Amino acid sequence: MSALSLSSLPSRVKVCEMGPRDGLQNESGVVATTAKIHYIDLLSASGLAVIETTSFVRPSSIPQLADAEEVMAGIERRPGVTYLCLVPNLRGLDRARAAGVRAIAVFTAASDAFTQRNINMTIDESLETFRAVVKAARAEGMWVRGYVSTAFGCPYQGAVPVENVARVANALAEMGVDEISIGDTIGVATPNQVVAVAGALQTQMPVERLAMHFHDTRGTALANVVAALQMNVTIFDSSSGGLGGCPYAPGASGNLATEDLLYMLHGMGIETGVDLARVRDASRFIAGALGRDVVSRAYRALEAAAARV
Ligand code: MG
Repeated sequence: MSALSLSSLPSRVKVCEMGPRDGLQNESGVVATTAKIHYIDLLSASGLAVIETTSFVRPSSIPQLADAEEVMAGIERRPGVTYLCLVPNLRGLDRARAAGVRAIAVFTAASDAFTQRNINMTIDESLETFRAVVKAARAEGMWVRGYVSTAFGCPYQGAVPVENVARVANALAEMGVDEISIGDTIGVATPNQVVAVAGALQTQMPVERLAMHFHDTRGTALANVVAALQMNVTIFDSSSGGLGGCPYAPGASGNLATEDLLYMLHGMGIETGVDLARVRDASRFIAGALGRDVVSRAYRALEAAAARV
């Protein structure tokens, strides 16, 4: 091993695209259903393996995603792509099932202060709700993802102990959730924290079930990805163009941009199976639909290079 290389990193990474759900949910403008469908179809054509497509929450609670049924009916479902949908309860699961959804996600957090404000439940109440949802979904052969948000810090509580993250992740794993995504909801994580959390979780579950969801609010998202890679994490969430912003820091970046993640991984010789230029095409389209530029730095560099020719 050369002293100048990073030590034994994974050779392949799975990228989970968050733009259509996590991204658009946190945008102030509402995008037309036909535009969302085209955006998702463009993302599907890029080689992304997982696209979080929409959410079956009560339509009145998140107007941006009130068209979940129409979106699922309108997209072209490519073989090999998992179209993941957020489901908050059994009612949402019924709607998802009726819409032909085959992969669902449930959403909780590592801090009670956050779940109380965000979904009006304690962590344990949320786990109780999801136990029934996960059981019913798995009985039908659906693939299930679980989110543990505020794993590196909470906007209401501040620091979040690693043991709390491990407890919630473990509860999800025990109820049969296939993949668990650990989220830095407010973008405060630093690489040493990532190593601590990824290390603690790996004593409880295989690293293959672990995903990391970083936000770039303070510019640490890619450094955190490298730290997670060194801990053998091979699944990362990101959002095309960096869509979504940060609800806790208006005007700041939220989700790590897919283009930035792909640029770095490909430069490091890590395969993703995703075509960066095609993700850029999807971001360019949705930026037009939103009527604003996107924050991804790799996107902007690509666009600038294209404008010079
Ligand atoms: Mg996010």
